[in-house]
Amino acid sequence: MNPLLTPFDTAPFSKIENSHFKPAFLQAMEEARAEIDQITANEEVPSFENTIEALEFSGQQLDRISSVFFNLNSAETNEEIQKIAQEVSPLLSEFSNDITLNEALFKRIKNVYDQKDSLNLSVEQQTLLDKKYKSFSRNGANLDEDKKKRLREIDAQLSKLKLKFGENVLAETNKYEMHLTNENDLDGLPEGEKEAAAQMAKAKDKEGWLVTLDYPSYIPFMKYAKNRELRKKLALAFGSKAFHGDELDNQENVLSIANLRYERANLLSYKTHAHFVLEERMAETPEKVYEFLNELLVKAKPAAQKEFDQLEDFAKELDSIDQLEKWDGSYYSEKLKQKLFNLDDEKLKPYFKLENVISGVFKVAEKLFDLKFEEVTDIDKYHEEVKTYKVYDTSNNFISVFYADFHPRKGKRGGAWMTSYKPQYRRNGDNVRPHVSNVCNFTRSTPSKPSLLTFNEVTTLFHEFGHGLHGMLANTTYPSLSGTSVFWDFVELPSQVMENWCYEQEALELFATHYETGEVIPMELVQKIKESATFQEGMQTLRQLSFGLLDMSWHGVDPTGITSVKQHESEAFKGTNLYPETDETCMSTAFSHIFQGGYSSGYYSYKWAEVLDADAFAYFKEKGIFNKEVATKFKDNVLSKGGTENPMTLYKRFRGAEPKVEALLERAGLLN
Ligand SMILES: [Zn+2]
Repeated sequence: MNPLLTPFDTAPFSKIENSHFKPAFLQAMEEARAEIDQITANEEVPSFENTIEALEFSGQQLDRISSVFFNLNSAETNEEIQKIAQEVSPLLSEFSNDITLNEALFKRIKNVYDQKDSLNLSVEQQTLLDKKYKSFSRNGANLDEDKKKRLREIDAQLSKLKLKFGENVLAETNKYEMHLTNENDLDGLPEGEKEAAAQMAKAKDKEGWLVTLDYPSYIPFMKYAKNRELRKKLALAFGSKAFHGDELDNQENVLSIANLRYERANLLSYKTHAHFVLEERMAETPEKVYEFLNELLVKAKPAAQKEFDQLEDFAKELDSIDQLEKWDGSYYSEKLKQKLFNLDDEKLKPYFKLENVISGVFKVAEKLFDLKFEEVTDIDKYHEEVKTYKVYDTSNNFISVFYADFHPRKGKRGGAWMTSYKPQYRRNGDNVRPHVSNVCNFTRSTPSKPSLLTFNEVTTLFHEFGHGLHGMLANTTYPSLSGTSVFWDFVELPSQVMENWCYEQEALELFATHYETGEVIPMELVQKIKESATFQEGMQTLRQLSFGLLDMSWHGVDPTGITSVKQHESEAFKGTNLYPETDETCMSTAFSHIFQGGYSSGYYSYKWAEVLDADAFAYFKEKGIFNKEVATKFKDNVLSKGGTENPMTLYKRFRGAEPKVEALLERAGLLN
């Protein structure tokens, strides 16, 4: 008996063996195809119920098997699971392609879509219909055969180019090493970093030390190394990745990707790639994004210039540096930060014992949203370290299952994330509750010390828990609109807003107590945390804006006339430069976020989400950070609503107005 093919509530981890996955996938795909065939073979007139809703609820078993499998592949993988992933991933994309290319299915969907105004649909149903229709039309379902063919060609070319782009960046990163044989060249680096550099050399049978372009090696060197010439050498190597005019150069790839995306958008009747992407974002149009970026730019620029001048003065005073260069920024910023705040993780960690922070985030959720977390032992788990909870509201209604997996292990990828094993939805009168999980990589306890979190880990825990609440409190009809299934530039609101409670005395008093003495974290430390959090915020903001503007410069225009990547980029950076230009470097050729990953026309969303969370939290601050009325409005209009309505509508219903940038500027200290 295959436990994955037997109906289950919580995932039956202890019964699953790796050999169960592939047959389960194959059978569930076959069943899902049969469900689709049933829809297209239906002789009744296409209706919302027999087509859209039927499609929405098809393939549910396949979805559950996929969740279990891919969640395990991230949190508790091994070679066998990875091998299965490589085998089933192409089968799954073939499966979903077959659906989007299914003409009989699209014909029915279009039939329903064309009469949407006379169908008397609820807002959620309209959203679902729109989403289903667009998942076809945005893939060319409405095009004639010739154009369809061209679209497939473009998609095939784009996926090859993006792959090549990424391979080049990776190869360039791996190719470079700075070999140091004189210990003085490592002056300034903390002992741990020196050791890491020595180990790297040893691993390659070399004398001395190696510094590379990988972040864990590159960042500390730029931050701490005294030797300015070496910092320059490393920074130029880092900044010129895939920009050497050799076989690993990405300039042609950048131009081809931008042009193909533009052509694809035109084929589908969109003005530019950004118009195509932003149609499914809260920002909606490139004009809105430009307006947003430029509004912040006007406010952040003077502050950034002031911070830059201060940093330059500091460098001059310290080392007689006249012109601050790109390779000086991290080094002097780190020194200045130490001088101003003298705040390090070791001072804060004793106040953030993991167990205390967990109970703290639960208390915050209880005060705001009436949730109670009960740790249970009767839920099957994939590793003994995973904690399992049942979540109830104050009337003892069951809300969710919550898994929490906090520590690094071999087989778990890095970082922190929220995921789910089962979405919330309503069907046949039942409100099916979700199974949500948080996975992190926090330092574990030792025989003599409990797990003590850095402040960054504390905010990470609150952040992922915020995504978790979005999943747990979901209350929608359709699973594909439930919880975190929202527009890309809206999904970070619930998570980022939760981080704000970590900076508030009233919240910290609930859990930030010294693990030995029980003393509550001193106000003076809290104040320092707040101040250091906005250190050089103007410069940071300017940097983020410059990336957002560069992204839009490639995707929000007709790129056919661009011939020089470097020249185009310099033009885009003009309004945001603080440091002198360097001819040897180019950002676009290694900007994997937008040319390889999914962030094209989406880089702005980092700042967008910050504006949302600051504006939302300002409402809490105004009424009290545990004010029930505001919290309930947030729960009813944002957390429970998922993607059932346009996010701006949801937000305005919560806040009473569109988000404004002022709250972020104030929090960042950019108003003066
Ligand atoms: Zn997040």
